[in-house]
Amino acid sequence: MSESISQTTNETIFTKIINKEIPADILYEDELALAFSDINPQAPIHFLVIPKKPITTINAIQEEDKALVGHLYWVAAKLAEKHGFAKDGYRAVMNCNENGGQTVYHIHLHVLAGKAMGWPPYQDKLKTL
Ligand code: 5GP
Repeated sequence: MSESISQTTNETIFTKIINKEIPADILYEDELALAFSDINPQAPIHFLVIPKKPITTINAIQEEDKALVGHLYWVAAKLAEKHGFAKDGYRAVMNCNENGGQTVYHIHLHVLAGKAMGWPPYQDKLKTL
């Protein structure tokens, strides 16, 4: 699909996962959201929670999407409980645009768990504010 059509339809690789056109390790699904393991995990447990509605970035979240975005956190918490890492803790983070490190333009909550996370999240050479 060309970039212009992709931008018009908001279609990304995640649309293909939602439509089951490409495989994914799906952990949870309901009418609003889907959770699946990240293909390139950055922690012992790393999955993504996405809305089925293709919203490009945090900046594109509309008033009517507020409950939907909250739902993504609810799904993350349910899965944390189910997979036994709720008490130990985890990170649930959404990257936005280039400086946020976003590469797929369909919002997604990264859920990272299984070890203590570092903070701050940026590299040493970028530490100067
Ligand atoms: P971002 O960089 O946009 O915050 O995160 C995108 C995430 O999507 C990355 O962690 C990347 O590994 C993951 N990802 C990209 N393509 C695929 C895919 O085809 N399948 C799965 N399961 N994850 C993907």
